[in-house]
Amino acid sequence: MNPLLSRRNFLKATSLAAASLPFAPTFSFAAESKRKIGYALCGLGSLSTHQLAPALQNTKYCRLAGIITGTPAKARSWQAKYKLPERSIYSYDTMAKLAENPDIDVVYVVTPNGLHAEHTIAAAKAGKHVLCEKPMEVSPEKCQQMIDACKAAGKQLAIGYRLHFEPNNLECIRLAREKVFGDLRFIEAGFGFAIGDPKQWRLNKALSGGGPMMDVGIYALQALRYLSGEEPISVSALATTVDTVKFRDIEETLIWQMKFPSGLLGSGNTTYRFGGINRFNVNAERGWFGMTPAYSYHGLRGSRSDGETIQMPDIDQFAAEMDDFAQCILENRPTRVPGEEGLRDMKIIAAIYESARTGKAVKLA
Ligand code: NAD
Repeated sequence: MNPLLSRRNFLKATSLAAASLPFAPTFSFAAESKRKIGYALCGLGSLSTHQLAPALQNTKYCRLAGIITGTPAKARSWQAKYKLPERSIYSYDTMAKLAENPDIDVVYVVTPNGLHAEHTIAAAKAGKHVLCEKPMEVSPEKCQQMIDACKAAGKQLAIGYRLHFEPNNLECIRLAREKVFGDLRFIEAGFGFAIGDPKQWRLNKALSGGGPMMDVGIYALQALRYLSGEEPISVSALATTVDTVKFRDIEETLIWQMKFPSGLLGSGNTTYRFGGINRFNVNAERGWFGMTPAYSYHGLRGSRSDGETIQMPDIDQFAAEMDDFAQCILENRPTRVPGEEGLRDMKIIAAIYESARTGKAVKLA
């Protein structure tokens, strides 16, 4: 059983999630009485520009306190737009100087996957907490190094698994845990899209660690884990690549199966070849429930075999995720999405890739 997802912890997690949601009428004295947590965004690409910086303006416990970028022009435009002081502007090479800046509590690592360890370790060495985007890194070994560095620094490490704070996904976890439709029998989860620009880092194995499995398949894997509340004991997978020029050394499409200790079976799929996959469906003893879309930033909705719809309030998932981590720091309590959760996914993904390569099922410890 995933310790994060036991019934007791789930109930705790959902009430904590409620506490971090903008519409929740909850109030944390410990968090409210202190200053806002300063976040520095490391990597000013699409996610930072279009989601995280705007989301920080919607948070209750956080503020944008600095930036780390390799592009001087971006440094200047962000500094002007967000009125950041000169001392809070860093390049990747000057991250050690973060140690001298008390305005910055958290470094949010938003660079390509294969740079997450380098930037996380640099931030931890400078005495900062780290929120790192998914996937945590490109191998279990790198993930372990990140965990070790944050532990050595006495700092928290969280992974950007925003759906652990999303009310519709939390509602589906409730339906599963409370066995509203009885014991679970089968879960199918998939996320994919047709990828564009052939020159982007997502198609470069050294920076991405792999194809759609690393990028969006990880959401389906997460759903299989948080919906089942169990850890898989074996996986088998099949990968295909049609466009071998564009996808030189990464998979283009991948499907996998997983067996869970209770006998529950899971099936996942992911692709960079076509769109229209953004869903999960859970079959149980006496019915089913599922969501389409399941993983988008907004507009999530689902249905149930009893005719009811699943449509919880639409929130800013990134604001909820950052506020929750800020509260964890202010109240000195652990995050529900720690580095160990990212490491767990990376071990399973490594097994999925091994199975796709060898054609054999791979057992998981
Ligand atoms: P992006 O390409 O838009 O931005 C990446 C940034 O890293 C750019 O600013 C780029 O300049 C910088 N960078 C630094 N060193 C680089 C190098 N050697 N090569 C290329 N770029 C380099 O990517 P993105 O979509 O913002 O994704 C960044 C991270 O966020 C990834 O790990 C991705 O998986 C994750 N992400 C998460 C979500 C989510 O919903 N949680 C959504 C999108 C992306």
